[in-house]
Amino acid sequence: MGQRSRNDGLPPPPFVEEVSDGIYAYLQLAGQWGLNNSGFLVGSRAVTLVDTCFTERRTRALLDAVRLLSGHPIRTLFNTHEHGDHTWGNFVLPESTTIVGHERCREGMLAEGLAAQAVFTGVEWGDIVLRPPSVTFADRLTLWVDDLRLEAISMGPAHTTSDAILWVPERKVLFSGDLVFNGGTPFVLMGSVQGSLAALHQLKELGAETIVPGHGPVAGPGVLDEQIAYLRHIQTIAADGWSVGLSPLDAAREADLGPFVHWHDPERIVGNLARAYVELAGAEPGVPIDVAGALGAMVEYNGGRPLRCLA
Ligand SMILES: [Zn+2]
Repeated sequence: MGQRSRNDGLPPPPFVEEVSDGIYAYLQLAGQWGLNNSGFLVGSRAVTLVDTCFTERRTRALLDAVRLLSGHPIRTLFNTHEHGDHTWGNFVLPESTTIVGHERCREGMLAEGLAAQAVFTGVEWGDIVLRPPSVTFADRLTLWVDDLRLEAISMGPAHTTSDAILWVPERKVLFSGDLVFNGGTPFVLMGSVQGSLAALHQLKELGAETIVPGHGPVAGPGVLDEQIAYLRHIQTIAADGWSVGLSPLDAAREADLGPFVHWHDPERIVGNLARAYVELAGAEPGVPIDVAGALGAMVEYNGGRPLRCLA
């Protein structure tokens, strides 16, 4: 077998990046559909993990990478939100691992089950068993790695209705979950445009110096301004399209993506506009909308090609 060429469309292997002493990002670049980031914090006796992966195979690779850096057991797993690319690998952890997440993360996982497998075809999922958080919180929860304080803070509705971040104030390190897609198109169909903007402004106030996004490379705080600029652009496109009676799909087709044109998974604009439209009509952030219909319109935007998941 020869080496894979650079342009065969396959993602590079995942890798670990130490972002602060004993704090690591596990990166699956470039962060397209299904290629999420995880993270882990190594204490003197135990490891705390942030998110698992979409498939069993990818999660086993993640755990192998953790073991290379620490022989301590993973006592705690924190889920940033309900999506399968961050939670479906939960079941690979031993029963002795406590899984922590927002209460709506648990509810959302149980409500959706493995339905997303029908959206992303051709993926080798493995024998996934849904394992939602068994410790849940509504607003905030503090976790500890020895004397290091980790603040879990509810942020939704934003990317979903179940978003929570993990903030390490002493190190100014933020695990943002999918409130940040670095280099990729943000996706708020299942959450809120307004709510995401509010959450991103709240994140700016934390004063993070290092951000491990839900997808894409580790970033500095400037990435928050990029996400804000994109979502404001979405609100402008939505308002213009709405005023002349365009559907979200047609508004997306006519839109000038401007500085965001190189971000991957651009079809998410259709889902983002669908959410922006219901908010223009006065809907509260995070109310249920026709997600399946919007996903179908995203496929149409792509010329009928199904969403490509590289997991
Ligand atoms: Zn997500």
